Amino acid sequence: MINAVKKKTLLKGMPLDELNDYFVSIGEPKFRGGQVFNWMYNHLVTDFAEMENLPKELRNNLSENTIIRTLDYVDSELSESTGTKKFLLETSEHNKIESVIIPEEKRTTLCISTQVGCPLDCKFCATGLMGYKKNLTAGEIFDQYLFAAKDYGKDNLTNIVYMGMGEPLLNYSATVNSLKIFADELTTGISLKKITVSTAGIAPKIIELADSGLKVKLALSLHSCFEDTRSKIMPINIKYPLKQNIDAIKYYVKKTGTRITFEYVMLKDLNDRQDDINALARLCSEIPSKINVIPFNSLKHMKPEGFSALLEPTPKHKIEDFVAKLRNRNITVNVRYTQGDDIAAACGQLAVKFN
Ligand code: SAH
Repeated sequence: MINAVKKKTLLKGMPLDELNDYFVSIGEPKFRGGQVFNWMYNHLVTDFAEMENLPKELRNNLSENTIIRTLDYVDSELSESTGTKKFLLETSEHNKIESVIIPEEKRTTLCISTQVGCPLDCKFCATGLMGYKKNLTAGEIFDQYLFAAKDYGKDNLTNIVYMGMGEPLLNYSATVNSLKIFADELTTGISLKKITVSTAGIAPKIIELADSGLKVKLALSLHSCFEDTRSKIMPINIKYPLKQNIDAIKYYVKKTGTRITFEYVMLKDLNDRQDDINALARLCSEIPSKINVIPFNSLKHMKPEGFSALLEPTPKHKIEDFVAKLRNRNITVNVRYTQGDDIAAACGQLAVKFN
């Protein structure tokens, strides 16, 4: 039987060069790519009818044959105490994803997801506990920004972090395409210097990102400097050991001239000992970097089992002591106190039922 349903072309998520190629391929002038780019990513338009400088016939053709709207709004929740706002959005296959706006004194950060769920199974992370469903497209990554910018005002968003659900470097091409869009001066107005991609450590992809020419900031979810402990809490460390990731990060720093952020979730008796301080100090002396210490956010609402159920947060006074000792060694350390815990929008708490 002939399949009568023609597959539509996904324009949303295409960077400029791909849009140009698309318009040339349908017999249109190349500059249409720039026009549509501007409407989709700068003016945040999701209906061809609004693209006034395109001929009517072309607009009709495009609305029949292409897609420029990828997500539907489902719900949002505002934390009264911190101003953190979480968005629940839905893909066309009805997969739910979350993104979060985090207002701080001097900046407002949008935290976006790159996958529905996550395949990495980090023992301390709620998204890991829900398993993996699919990679988001570059359009779905961008449209999280679209909803946030429409709600909060484009000019009020100053930073973007790829720290929501999923592992960005396991969805490499969509991540890179979304970065190319964000990086264009016409779109967000947020430079790559204010965008951070966070990874659990996919060493070969760190090298590829270094070679891509996109000088985005990179964060490594470190959580332990010791291979055995790290493998216990982050099974991906067995495939890509820390040593390999540290080599990749050194290459990244050399190639991009950026400083690395090490994220470090404080887990009681696992990574908060004197040995950990010594190892962190050694690592930071080798690499231009800073450490973001993150108090462990409870997973109790996920009813964790096995090793995850045993994890406990390092008490606050011990975190303070840990941080002070690192600072005494001239290491830059920020403590990321919890934002949005009351609405389960804090680090590692993003998790939604698949359907
Ligand atoms: N996969 C990527 C990005 C998502 S996680 C990565 O691993 O970096 C974003 C940050 O939240 C990571 O540093 C992660 O380790 C941290 N995180 C995960 N679960 C957490 C929890 N329960 N409490 C505090 N931080 C957590």
